[in-house]
Order: sequence, then structure tokens, then C-alpha cells
Amino acid sequence: MPYLRLAIPSPLRRLFDYLPPQGCETAILQPGVRIKVPFGRREVTGVLMEVVDTTEVPLNKLKAAIAVIDTTPPLPATVLKLARWAANYYQHPLGDALSQALPVLLRKGAPCEYTHQHLWRAMPDADIAQLGKTAARQRELLLLLLEHPNGISEGAIRAEGGQTALLKKLLDKGLAESFIHTPNHTEHNDQPLHEAPLTLNAEQRHAVQQITTTQGFQTFLLQGVTGSGKTEVYLQAIEHYIRQGKQALILVPEIGLTPQTVSRFKARFNLPVVVLHSNLTDNQRLDAWLQAKEGIARIIIGTRSAMFTPLRHPGVIFIDEEHDTSFKQQDGFRYNARDLAVMRGNLEQIPVVLGTATPAIESLYNAQQGRYQWLKLNQRAGDALPPQFELLDMRQLPLQDGLSEPLIQQIKGHLQQGTQVLIFLNRRGFAPTLMCHDCGWLADCRRCDAHMTLHRKPLHLHCHHCDSQRPVPNVCDHCGSSDLKPVGAGTERTEERLQALFPDVPVIRVDRDTTQRKNAMQHIMDRVHQGHPCILIGTQMLAKGHHFPKVTLVAILNADSGLFSADFRGMERTAQLILQVAGRAGRADHPGKVVMQTHHADHPTITSLVTEGYQAFAEQELSQRIAAHLPPSIYCAMFRAEANHPGQAERFLGKLRQLMANDILQPQGIQWLGPLPSPMEKRAGQYRAQLVLQSHDRKALHQQLNSIIHQVESDTEARKVRWSIDVDPVDMF
Ligand code: ADP
Ligand code: ZN
Ligand code: ZN
Repeated sequence: MPYLRLAIPSPLRRLFDYLPPQGCETAILQPGVRIKVPFGRREVTGVLMEVVDTTEVPLNKLKAAIAVIDTTPPLPATVLKLARWAANYYQHPLGDALSQALPVLLRKGAPCEYTHQHLWRAMPDADIAQLGKTAARQRELLLLLLEHPNGISEGAIRAEGGQTALLKKLLDKGLAESFIHTPNHTEHNDQPLHEAPLTLNAEQRHAVQQITTTQGFQTFLLQGVTGSGKTEVYLQAIEHYIRQGKQALILVPEIGLTPQTVSRFKARFNLPVVVLHSNLTDNQRLDAWLQAKEGIARIIIGTRSAMFTPLRHPGVIFIDEEHDTSFKQQDGFRYNARDLAVMRGNLEQIPVVLGTATPAIESLYNAQQGRYQWLKLNQRAGDALPPQFELLDMRQLPLQDGLSEPLIQQIKGHLQQGTQVLIFLNRRGFAPTLMCHDCGWLADCRRCDAHMTLHRKPLHLHCHHCDSQRPVPNVCDHCGSSDLKPVGAGTERTEERLQALFPDVPVIRVDRDTTQRKNAMQHIMDRVHQGHPCILIGTQMLAKGHHFPKVTLVAILNADSGLFSADFRGMERTAQLILQVAGRAGRADHPGKVVMQTHHADHPTITSLVTEGYQAFAEQELSQRIAAHLPPSIYCAMFRAEANHPGQAERFLGKLRQLMANDILQPQGIQWLGPLPSPMEKRAGQYRAQLVLQSHDRKALHQQLNSIIHQVESDTEARKVRWSIDVDPVDMF
């Protein structure tokens, strides 16, 4: 009697056996097909792993599957293998990992076919002038349709802030039409390019040549300073694979998936480009996914989860800004899409290119060890000059809401020249906290070990860790004094000061609070790109993905804020962020200047970074990591736990450590650090602790994790705490 062994989305790290549905021909079932089954009181979608002849489940406990959904597996064999590998490597339940590799509709059991949704588009002769000045909403809607000549769904229109109720009006006026979308293979395209490629410089040419002449699998680290023309290398390497009839998969950081990035690909290629962004409806996502799977989409751009997109004719994979931590999923299935890219390249036997100006120390190590082929672009492309750095020692300087006098003078100078200024301050809100001048009381969050941030627009206290909010008190909670003062400066406060100092110049703030509304970022960008003098002030949203050709001065207000972090990667992150922000200056014909306000102007790391550049810094950092037995010279995994009561999580991890110590199968060469309370022990009302495992031997580490996780899973005590395992953590909290 055959049984179906399924992976089912559940927290349990095991497979589940079922009887085949009535009349099912099990001999023809392929591993990877989806099967609907009863699970507890629910119906869920599982994935067939194998058909087996025996089961350990007693016959009276065995349930019958409800229905086989697919005739062929939705995920091709390579992606199925990738997801299995990842579940195993990251110690995540296989059923959940497989489920996350699928688009949402397929997780829910929908058929693996196009959703055939109705789309809207403008009529070919639609003229916006036909709409009166008073019909502002209709004009906006028509503009949106005009931006999507291939059609846009009602869900997407709503997501873009358009009013679908007005579509009927446009239809009646003969300005728009609705149609059913059926993607088609583009006929063989002799003209895959819209625009001519640029003439490469020698370094770029070498890089393209290496990437396009490699046979099978190879990982490249493409290290190029900002403005060195990495994107042009991507484009020309992609062109090579496109001309062979293949597809390119490009992963970008969450924050980097901007219209600007995408438009460079669309401008170059006369081919279907599919973008997997977070605003897609479930229908759109499935359709885009199918276009990639069928080979209709030739260029696929997406964030982290796009790494599981099936490709009919895989050609090449790019990871842009490979050092960015958003490639690592920080909860649940904690995979690193950059590292999975390398595994996927291996499975597909295609090249993988990791591009960045500031490689992760891990990638640098891999390049030094010869695992990655190292390609360098040291020159800025075209005739742009590298920015000049200046360190402003703040130890003697009074600050006006975050700004020192010499900096204010420089801002004035650049604005008078008619150029733009960018000010980076990685703290949103008005002030990091509120303090009582009489007793020193600070406005702390009641649910976290953290201060609450003071916001002025609108006025309230906000915890950026647990999101709780409360009104600003009139008097001190502790002594009743009314002498409460904001401490320090956030973007709102510095914006106010800049506006007062430069009343004739627009001051544009860019942070999570000003960009929440759909298209807000686009409006801001449009304003900045008009090129008039202005001051941009913002958080790291400004640092990535955007080009500001008219900015000649970049100021970093608190350059050393990450320097003394509890995380050993604090220095690396600070350096990457500084260079990334600095790279916004002087990209076109304007030379750029970068001013860094710091209290540590003589700190060797800061000085080596600005005088010798990232490479020198990174090599120094790597040798320190190796000397201190830290990643990447060793492998690391981290147990995290949280519970309602103090000490509970720590006790649980202590027990876990004891289990490992007593494990008779315990492999050699594993070190434990902890358990210790997390650096921010209390967060959102939970008390948190962590236990780190380290080893020079990856196999030993995994063997230990496998054995311990099975013991923990069957431990009833473990249910009182929430625990997780993070393999190759990028954050040590
Ligand atoms: P990166 O991605 O490395 O920061 P970009 O690819 O954005 O750099 O290139 C920076 C600028 O240089 C862009 O405006 C680009 O069009 C231009 N550029 C790139 N390569 C060349 C080249 N070979 N000749 C002239 N201009 C180039
Ligand atoms: Zn909080
Ligand atoms: Zn007080």
C-alpha cells in the first residue's frame, strides 16, 4: 500500500504521511506536486516529498489526502532542491520553507496558472487635455494608466492611490479600456536593446568579459566604488545572456527597489522586465512568477524572496549591494538570499555576480580565499571625480540642533553656488528622548529597555522598537517638574533649524514619516531632480538606490554613532553607510564634498576609511576578526529566546546548553557563549536572551544543531518560551 509523505507548513521539523486520495494513481505522482490535506482542524496545502511503502503511523491514525492539486510540480527541480537545502542549512521546517518559496496564491492551493485578471489601459489616442482642469482625480488616474501601457489591474491602481470608481468615467469618455491579460512569448527578438550600450572603460570591459566567458558556475565579487559603472557592467553582461535566449535574475535590497533602478533596465532592454515588489497584489505576483517560470519574462528584478523565482532558461544572477543586510530574512525562515544565490548558481550551473562598493567582510574573505573571482572597478566612470572628505571635530564645537557652525557656513556656500545639499542623520523624529531638567528622568518605553522618541508632527512619544505611543506628558512622571526638555536631535528638529537658517530654500525631509504615503518618495525625487537649490535631510532612506546629480555637499551629522556598538559588525556597518551616503555626492559633472561631524576625528578606523578608502579599512577589519576568532573566520549560529517573565528565556537557554554539554554525540570543537540577556533585554514586554554557538568546522556545528533541535522540539518546557535558531546571523541581538 503506498503512502504519501508530505512537507506541510507547520513549526514541526518533520514530514507527515497520508493515504492517497480516493482513486489516486500514485505511480504517476511526481515529487514536488501540491496536495490538499486535512491537518488538525484545517485544510492545508502540502508538498509531496516521496511515495513510500511503509509508514510508522498506526493505520487508524492515518488520514486520507483530499486532492492532488498539480500534475507537474510548480517549482522546478533546482528551486525545490534550493529550498530543501536552505531548510536544512538554516534549520527551518521544510514544509514552511517550501511554502515560502511559492507565491501566496499557490501556498493557498490555487491552480498554477495565470489569474487572467482584467487590466486597464489608456486608449492609444487618449489625450489628457480632454479632461477639464476640475477633473483632477480623473487626470491623475489617466496619467497612471498612461504610465502602464501594458495594462494595470484595479488592485494595483488602488495600491498606487488611484480611484478605481472613476475608471467607468474614463471608459465612458473613450479614454480608457479594460482587457484580459494573457502573457505571450515575444517572438524571437533581433533587437533586444532600446538604447545603445555605453563604451566601456578597460576595467568594465574586463569585468564583462570575465562574467560572460565563464563556463557553468562561478561566483564573482564585483567591487566598484560608487559611480564606477557597475550597473553598466550588469547591463552588458545581461545583454550577452539575453542574446543567448536566457534570463537574468537581479536581486536588490529592499530599500533599493526604486523606480530609478528599474527604469535603467527597462530603458536598456526591449524585452519583458518583471519586477517583484511588495506592492504587487497576489494575482499580479502569481502572473509575474509564471512569466519567469515560462521564460516569457527575460529580466526579473526583485528583493530577497525573488531568489526562489523559477527560471525556464537561467542565464545569470546578480546581487546588487550584496553587503546589504536586507538580503537576510530576520524572522521565521532566516535565509540569506545572497548566500542562496551562490547555491542556486551552483545548482543551475550559471554565474553569480555579487556587486557592491563596500563588500561584506564575509565576501571579501571568500574573494581572498579564491572562492569568489574578484573583479575591481577602481575608477569612476565617465569623468566624475571622487568626493573629497573633511572631518569636522565636534569636541570643541557647540551644536545647533545637530549642526555645527562650520558646517552651516559650508551649506550656505554650496547653496549660493546654486547646487543642492544632502544631510544625513540616522534618527527620525524630533529628539531621541525627553528629559526632566530637575531630576534627570527620561521618557522611557514601559515595554522596552529603550527611550521613547519625541515626535512633533504630530506631537507624541513613540517607541521605535515596539511601536507603542503615548501623549507627551506636561510634567515629569517622577518629580512632577514641568521643566521637560528634548535631548539631542532627530531629522524633524534639524529640519526645523535648517528651515529657520535658510528660509528661502526648500528643506525636504526624507524619512519613514514623510514617505509613508504612496508615491511620496517619487514626488520628492521629482522635486529634487528639477535641480533647483534645496536641502535634503533624511535617514538611510537617502543613502541607497537614489542618484542626486545636483548634490555637491553631503554632510553626515553623527558619523560615529555606530562606532561603539555592542555588535562586532558595528564598525563594518558604519563604514558601509558612510561610503554609501558619501557616494550620493558629485556623481555627474559636479565634484562632491563630504563633511563628517565626529567626536572621534582621530579614530584610526575613521581616518583610514576616509584617507585610504574601504579596501584598506576592510582588510584591517578582516584581520582583526580573524585574530579575535569571529566570523567569517569561524561559523556561528545563535539561539534566541523570549518569554513573559524575567529570567525565563535565559533559564531555557541554560538548559539547552546543558543538553549539549551532556550530548554523548557531541561533536568536537564547538564553543558556546552564553546564555546571556540580549543587549536590549526587554522588548515589547518580552524578556529576551541569547546563546551563541561557534566552530571552525561547519559540519560539526550543523551536526550539533540537528541533534539539539530535535531534543528541544520534543521538550514541553520549550513551549513556554518562543525560541528560534539563526544560522550565520547578521545581527548579534
Ligand atoms: P555604480 O552602479 O557603480 O554606482 P553607475 O553604473 O550608476 O555606477 O554609473 C555611474 C554613472 O556613470 C552613470 O551615470 C553611468 O551612466 C555612467 N557610466 C557608466 N559607465 C560608463 C562609461 N563606460 N562611460 C561613460 N559613462 C559611464
Ligand atoms: Zn517599546
Ligand atoms: Zn523630574
